[in-house]
Amino acid sequence: MEENKDLSLNNDKVKVKNFIYEIIEDDLKTDKWNGRVHTRFPPEPNGYLHIGHAKSICLNFGIAENFHGKFNLRFDDTNPEKEEQEYVDSIVEDVKWLGADFEDRILYASDYFEQMYEYAIELINKGKAYVCDLTSDEIRATRGTLTEPGKESPYRNRTIDENLHLFEKMRNGDFENGSKTLRAKIDMGSPNFNMRDPIMYRIIHAEHHRQGDKWCVYPTYDWAHGLEDSLERITHSICTLEFENHRPLYDWYLDALGIYHPQQIEFARLNLSYTVMSKRKLLQLVNEKFVDGWDDPRMPTICGYRRRGYTSQAIRNFAEIIGVAKRDALTDISLLEYAIRENLNKSANRVMAVLKPLKIVLTNYKGEEELDAVNNPEDPTAGNRKLKFTRELYIEQTDFMENPPKGFFRLVPGGEVRLRYAYIIRCEEVIKDENGEVIELRCTYDPETKSGAATSTKKVKGTIHWVSAKYGVNAEVRLYDRLFVTENPGNKDNWLDLINPNSLEILNDSVVEPSVEDAKPGERFQFERTGYFCIDTKYSTEKKIVFNRTVTLKDSWAKANK
Ligand code: ATP
Ligand code: MG
Repeated sequence: MEENKDLSLNNDKVKVKNFIYEIIEDDLKTDKWNGRVHTRFPPEPNGYLHIGHAKSICLNFGIAENFHGKFNLRFDDTNPEKEEQEYVDSIVEDVKWLGADFEDRILYASDYFEQMYEYAIELINKGKAYVCDLTSDEIRATRGTLTEPGKESPYRNRTIDENLHLFEKMRNGDFENGSKTLRAKIDMGSPNFNMRDPIMYRIIHAEHHRQGDKWCVYPTYDWAHGLEDSLERITHSICTLEFENHRPLYDWYLDALGIYHPQQIEFARLNLSYTVMSKRKLLQLVNEKFVDGWDDPRMPTICGYRRRGYTSQAIRNFAEIIGVAKRDALTDISLLEYAIRENLNKSANRVMAVLKPLKIVLTNYKGEEELDAVNNPEDPTAGNRKLKFTRELYIEQTDFMENPPKGFFRLVPGGEVRLRYAYIIRCEEVIKDENGEVIELRCTYDPETKSGAATSTKKVKGTIHWVSAKYGVNAEVRLYDRLFVTENPGNKDNWLDLINPNSLEILNDSVVEPSVEDAKPGERFQFERTGYFCIDTKYSTEKKIVFNRTVTLKDSWAKANK
């Protein structure tokens, strides 16, 4: 885990400085960029965004905000085969939802293709790029090894005119996929593989989601990325550590062209325990139906977390507390859950809900009444509400035990317990079905013990929640657990075998107090004593309300693992 950080989230604006902030502060002192700070988030639209991307978004936008700079959303749409408009749309929605403000700057690398093509011609003219006829297998085979230099391509010394002519024909569609590439002429003996005459353009005859069939040569990431940054006059091009070895190439291209040259800075990507993060794996989970779409609440995607009830503020707080490091590490998922709980504790109203109901009948209670309940003890402005109290109620099955162990302070035969906001009741009789299952409890209530009343002096050890059987609303409740059973599934070959078979439990007979009937899909609550829940935006209907468990009240895993 990254160095010791202030973990208190008592105010919602946690600001932790990191090494990138220090670099930028120095640049501002030396006036390196004329006082400008301009960052970007450059997703490839080949999947939905995940929590790792959120870290990058929060970092890049946070820097722009902190230094009064600008932040671009730029699609790195240079590979026509895997990219789709659906992904573009979802990414725009998710970045906005996270609160990262790109103003009117939704930019596309594909809009720079013409300019990139001209830059490539410039490099050919400078004798720094050549058309190569080797296949990709042959290029790989001649790259050399860690100890041996690569072999120079037999096409390396083509004349400038020949290169210009062939490159134009490549663009015009005269050649088949894979039959030629444009390569930078750098150094086949470089200790850095990325410098061994890297590929700049490939021939791909495919439909591009924005450019249609206008292009059949497509730039590689390394060639395109620095140009995109340069054209947008980015100051600090922040990327993940695996690009550290690519930085010499990033610098080489920009220097060879002599154009505006941003500074690339690398940081450690986020890896979360019990989670896979690569888009390829997430796509496989979706395509092979291990989950119910990209927005399945068990997915580490932004849209999955949103559906599950995570708030964008909590995700931003999480990004702050994990900080930014220079070394890869595995971040404990309970830190994310902690950030969610901290945030919801302040913002979510309390309601009573019984997940697995057991009916009780108060044999000496007649009529009905309304009781006062506090909406959120953490938020004085949240107010109160009325709870309907009736003769027949539901309590949680787990709040009653016929043969309790020592220290069980809830309801037992002949025992007493307080009903939250209501009365103390005594269990007089246990009713069972023909299989011996407890199906109902006959109880009496003590009218002298009404919560808050002056007469209420009797004390009992346990207080439990309840819902009126007459007025309670039937609900489906979906309980989520971690999607994987091992800490680091991402680096195991058999990761699909490590899916938690119990990651989703659906309860069909839950009952919630009627105040939730006015709530809208997406609204979040704390179910007293059981956790934070939100109304599912996908499956809730007029007839059936579906709740997702956002997070448990406490870190149940930390306890279980002790
Ligand atoms: P994946 O490896 O999941 O396929 P990617 O890096 O290929 O992701 P991009 O769309 O290229 O996905 O990512 C856009 C930006 O998000 C990049 O700047 C990348 O460095 C950053 N990013 C991706 N994954 C993470 C992560 N786990 N932690 C932090 N930043 C990330
Ligand atoms: Mg990438």
